Amino acid sequence: ATPVSIMVAIGRGARLGILFRKGTALQTLERVRVVAFDKTGTLTMGKPALTDLEPATGFDANTVLALVAGAEGGSEHPIATALIAAARDRGLTLPPVIKTDVQPGLGLRAEVGGKVVLVGNRALLSGAGVVLPDAMVDRAQVLAGQGKTALFAALDGQAAMVLAVADPVKPGSRDAIKALHEMGVTTAMITGDADATARAIAAEIGIDHVVAGVLPAGKVAALDNLRAKTGEHGALAFVGDGINDAPALAHADVGVAIGTGTDVAIEAADVVLVSGDPGGIVTALDLSRHTMRNIR
Ligand code: ADP
Ligand code: MG
Repeated sequence: ATPVSIMVAIGRGARLGILFRKGTALQTLERVRVVAFDKTGTLTMGKPALTDLEPATGFDANTVLALVAGAEGGSEHPIATALIAAARDRGLTLPPVIKTDVQPGLGLRAEVGGKVVLVGNRALLSGAGVVLPDAMVDRAQVLAGQGKTALFAALDGQAAMVLAVADPVKPGSRDAIKALHEMGVTTAMITGDADATARAIAAEIGIDHVVAGVLPAGKVAALDNLRAKTGEHGALAFVGDGINDAPALAHADVGVAIGTGTDVAIEAADVVLVSGDPGGIVTALDLSRHTMRNIR
């Protein structure tokens, strides 16, 4: 490869909002046949908002929400931000949290307002021995089918409420996936969110493969499984934005960070999409294919 044409392409990329942190990425991108995306903050805005609130019999929605929002005070997850904002919007007073035990990829347990509050996914509550009535599980399934993230809350070990948050898809996501397919590239989504939620979002965007329920530490293994599942022998790119995505960004043949994401993700990546539009991966692939073709 002629270093000069690579340098020129890297300069062009910079003007198009694509930063190559490693020059070799431009060469590897040409061989990419599978692009896997993180969901939250990469394909979606990463700014969920509370949409549904359904208390169990005998519980008051606002009382439970105030405790849940108080509990979320110890978390920096976008879901925490959404629940705290919703409680504030309703003018609720959030009780101060005494102790928080954050369980990455599951939710959290907190001591707040004189109660032990659990808030998170089904696995978190089941793991803590909370019995979830069928009606609540069914409701969660319906909400997930709408592409929302369904959450459960328990007070002192008793199932108290089903909540849902929705995180809008980024305007450029659908077109980016369509363009990748036209280039002969297979697409996938890797997420910690529930399977039904992930599938609903994937269907909306047109993504080929879904790997859901992945714990933060499991994203690297998920990438390897995906390689086997797609049967593709070309290179694999991973696009992500979060702290949790850093190991997968380093592990993929090409790690692509969303520029509006965390510094940890950017540091681990080979390429950065400055604007945060996932469509930048299409531009990067195009640039790579043209450059490598002209060199030969
Ligand atoms: P993603 O890959 O979509 O960013 P995460 O791995 O961060 O997802 O979280 C996976 C799931 O764990 C969430 O969909 C949610 O059900 C639950 N969860 C994580 N953090 C929290 C939190 N602070 N409050 C409630 N639920 C949470
Ligand atoms: Mg993310």
